[in-house]
Amino acid sequence: MKVVLQNLTKVFPSRNKKSNEEVVAVSDFNFEIPDGKLIGLLGPSGCGKSTTLYMISGLQKPTSGKIFFGDDDVTELSTENRGIGLVFQNYALYPHMTVKQNILFPLQNLKGADRPSKEEMLERAYHAAKLVQIDELMDRKPSELSGGQQQRVAIARALVKMPRVLLLDEPLSNLDARLRLQTREEIRRIQKETGITTVFVTHDQEEAMSISDIIVVMKLGVVQQIGAPQEVYDSPQNLFVAKFLGTPPINVFNGSVKGGKVYIGEDAVLEVTNVPDQEVMIGIRPEGFNLDAEGPLKCKLANVEVMGRDVSIVSTHEASANPDIRSIINADNKVDTSSEIVRYSIKPHKLFLFNKETEERIYFEVK
Ligand code: ADP
Ligand code: MG
Repeated sequence: MKVVLQNLTKVFPSRNKKSNEEVVAVSDFNFEIPDGKLIGLLGPSGCGKSTTLYMISGLQKPTSGKIFFGDDDVTELSTENRGIGLVFQNYALYPHMTVKQNILFPLQNLKGADRPSKEEMLERAYHAAKLVQIDELMDRKPSELSGGQQQRVAIARALVKMPRVLLLDEPLSNLDARLRLQTREEIRRIQKETGITTVFVTHDQEEAMSISDIIVVMKLGVVQQIGAPQEVYDSPQNLFVAKFLGTPPINVFNGSVKGGKVYIGEDAVLEVTNVPDQEVMIGIRPEGFNLDAEGPLKCKLANVEVMGRDVSIVSTHEASANPDIRSIINADNKVDTSSEIVRYSIKPHKLFLFNKETEERIYFEVK
């Protein structure tokens, strides 16, 4: 099921009685979610992810704009009639019911012609339980399950109605690191097996990047960039997106372009064409540095952290916007730790220029 968000906007009235300042939680969101894809809705806390999801689910009414499922305008439709499955961060299972009863619950609530026969309900409940691999646990109570198992029950309960769209709001946040990894792979597998169009909300960029077909990066209610995870990582449209994606994060420098050369402090690190002289912000990915005794970027060596396959070199530079610079270098390259200086040349496609005021990307060609 394709899902279309059209000029979707949500404004909340002020919570503070003294001021009339409204909160624009979501501003003019336009996106056509292709059928059968998993969309990662990504951004820092408070950027409008949940509000967007609640509008798609019908739990919240947009201030303006429309939502379509396929060609159906569902903007005015109630949550029950949208055919969605919802999973929240806190699993919200009924504690007095068994796993089986929890999964059956949405079906038993169906009325009239929509209500399946008893046999079909059971069959669908077991099918959903199998998908999330909890069919052995059907007679347990939620209190007898681990957090990961409880979240699987919540997902089975969302799947049992065979939703047109699956909506997940930070579903892994309550799980420990190992389970989080395992469950996110699980969600990806289930999504592929069922082919249900899915919107997955998270503030964790690694989580979003690893399971999404498409990510949507939001900031303060405004969509910043939409694209395949690798595409957005490789070509961020602004400094916010560049900084939000990637671990370790991108290194940011105050720099300038003068006469076709990109300067970090006094160091001319790259020659470019078609960029007028100006002050810029420069972003270099940690993997964008080559150890190079003749390299133009001269940094003060602080520390070398061994990671096995790679080493992480921590250094400083007076033009760096962060306390330190972190580069990731293949461990086959030997770092001279007795030296106070480390010199780099820069991989051009790992360096991005941004306008100093707007922080929008400045595109260039390498000379
Ligand atoms: P996220 O899920 O990305 O953390 P939310 O969508 O929950 O963000 O919130 C977006 C913005 O809208 C925040 O500034 C939040 O405080 C505000 N907001 C969310 N729900 C309400 C509400 N019911 N009333 C007023 N403001 C709200
Ligand atoms: Mg939220």
